[in-house]
Amino acid sequence: MNQQPPKRGDSATRHPKHNRRVSFAEIKKAMVGRWGDAVRDAADVPRKHLDGRGHPCVRCGGTDRFAAFADFKVRGSVHCRGCFNADTTPRPGDGIDTLCWLLDCDTARARQWIVEWLGWDDPECSSESNTDSGPLSPPPAIRSISLPPRDKHNQKLKRLAMSCYKAMKPKWWDRLSHRLDLPVTELQRLRVGWSQQHHATTWPMRDSRKRIIGVRLRSMSTGKKWSVKNSTNGLFIPTQLPSQVDRLFIAEGPTDCASLLSLGFDCIGRPSCSGAVPQTLKLVKRLHPHECVIVADDDTNLAGKKGAELLAARLATVCPRVRIIYPPGGHNDARDWIRSGANADEVLQIVHASTTRSLKIMKEVVK
Ligand SMILES: [Zn+2]
Repeated sequence: MNQQPPKRGDSATRHPKHNRRVSFAEIKKAMVGRWGDAVRDAADVPRKHLDGRGHPCVRCGGTDRFAAFADFKVRGSVHCRGCFNADTTPRPGDGIDTLCWLLDCDTARARQWIVEWLGWDDPECSSESNTDSGPLSPPPAIRSISLPPRDKHNQKLKRLAMSCYKAMKPKWWDRLSHRLDLPVTELQRLRVGWSQQHHATTWPMRDSRKRIIGVRLRSMSTGKKWSVKNSTNGLFIPTQLPSQVDRLFIAEGPTDCASLLSLGFDCIGRPSCSGAVPQTLKLVKRLHPHECVIVADDDTNLAGKKGAELLAARLATVCPRVRIIYPPGGHNDARDWIRSGANADEVLQIVHASTTRSLKIMKEVVK
């Protein structure tokens, strides 16, 4: 497999759509030994419940109706006598079926969830606007099965992110700020840096406890986005986010997040239109906002809308008011909208004009 990023002019860079889609076989291979982490992140399934014995089901309760199959570590297969068995749809099979069940979604969505969880870019759902983005990532390299503990990776990623941040010089901040049309202050709050090794800007991704679990890379010359090896996709969380937030904006990608921060809003960024749902839920539970506002991209393939709807349905279980807004007037994303001159009042006008979702309403929609 070609592990080098494609050069400018390669067919892969000229025709992003023709980038090879990650196969199920590749996903399953990469997930061997990692299904336990995945189901924990997807639905808080405790590791000790994956020992093959009967345990409570995270979806339907009980005391012992859920169990992992003996080959769980390899295949990710589990079952529940009550709600995930041979008579249900989906029915138990491999780990992808398990995620379909846990996330209450179809195979395509479960596949996308895993691709993002692995930190692989997915050609089907680009994370930010196309206004300055170049080609999408090359096909991912298959990960080795015998991974050292995740903590070790996270320590390495943290060191990398912080050294890249500290390496930034005043001139570089100015250049980056000018290039992205975003204030230096907000870029610094996101701990953006520069990696000489990758020849790209670095954007730390964090879990709900704000620990760095991945580093997004973004080429300044091509706009290409990819991740440092062993990254997990997480949230872009600024420093100085209050411990209790009244209204939390949830943007798609770090640059949209920085744009909303620049207007004085409390904001976090998702790694893509459908990524980091569990981390977002956990963070929202900790921040207790009275309202969450998901700012979705108004993209033509509806990926932004679908991702926002899925997140809203989950957020409604932990936040009293959830709204989804789309940048008006043909602006593709929040940065584009704010660059064109939108101020905080104009954003709030759109927020107030949007429908509020509560748990009650969402339940009716799901029915
Ligand atoms: Zn169940």
